[in-house]
Amino acid sequence: MQIQGTTKVVGLLGWPVAHSVSPQMHNAAFAALGLDWCYIPLPAPPEALADAVRGVRALGLRGANVTVPHKEAVIPLVDALAPEARAIGAVNTLVVREDGRLEGHNTDALGVRAALEAAGCPVEGVRALVLGAGGAARAAAYALLQGGAEVQVLARRPAQAEALARDLEQAFPGSRIVPGPLLPQALPRAAQEAHLLVQATPVGMWPHGDGSLWPEEDPLPPHLWVFDLVYRPARTRLLRQAEASGARTIEGAWMLIHQAAASFRLWTGVEPPLDAMAEACWAAL
Ligand code: NAP
Repeated sequence: MQIQGTTKVVGLLGWPVAHSVSPQMHNAAFAALGLDWCYIPLPAPPEALADAVRGVRALGLRGANVTVPHKEAVIPLVDALAPEARAIGAVNTLVVREDGRLEGHNTDALGVRAALEAAGCPVEGVRALVLGAGGAARAAAYALLQGGAEVQVLARRPAQAEALARDLEQAFPGSRIVPGPLLPQALPRAAQEAHLLVQATPVGMWPHGDGSLWPEEDPLPPHLWVFDLVYRPARTRLLRQAEASGARTIEGAWMLIHQAAASFRLWTGVEPPLDAMAEACWAAL
């Protein structure tokens, strides 16, 4: 890739950003299509976020991804908020329009939906269990309700699951989203009646240990689809437990790849080269 005077720039606003694989995915995509664009890290500590966003506009960037810890804090700094970003309560993609208007989007829900679809996992009319009630769980629940699933959200602080359910009920009136407590020993029973389990807590994430919320002694029901949003390691303990029980599995990296593809589409207006992005992601992980 040759950076020149005409190169359009996007990047990743977060703190820290060094661990991210987004630069590799997006730069591989620009290279695959021969686009005169580049993607750079934009590390900004929380106290510098407003300045950093002013910088995104002032320096003529075309947009940015937004990651931890800025996904919520950036909301008051945008000119317009897309409906899914409003309902989820977080922005992961900024788009700077030609007239300078700054839009806040959330492509995480799209990433979840596209990953489920690509894996062949049905969503419409199914019963889904979501573990956790943070940002990733909100995106997953949004995607599932939008796709016509019935959702049960389980969190160790039930009030967090209740707040999630209240917010998403407003976005999807008439849909069914039920909050509850996350009790690992009760999971095997709850999963018997579900078609899909979405793991949206950091349990099992490197480098915090190889844990799983699923009790070690119980097999998973073989009819279940298991989608672990944790992507480091790619095959978490939960996915290994699911595979050993004959259940079907989806790795969190697919959400990462599809959310990146959706951001790419928003910035460039061009259909993303998914294979190049996936290859770069798997190589970087
Ligand atoms: P978050 O906003 O901090 O939410 C984490 C949720 O998990 C909270 O409900 C939290 O409860 C719960 N939790 C944390 N530790 C737990 C434990 N030991 N047992 C039970 N519940 C626990 O984080 P997030 O942004 O949603 O991210 C969650 C995971 O998804 C992370 O591993 C992240 O890497 C992954 N993720 C993946 C993608 C992707 O593209 N694949 C995208 C976003 C996130 P408390 O509030 O009580 O701690």
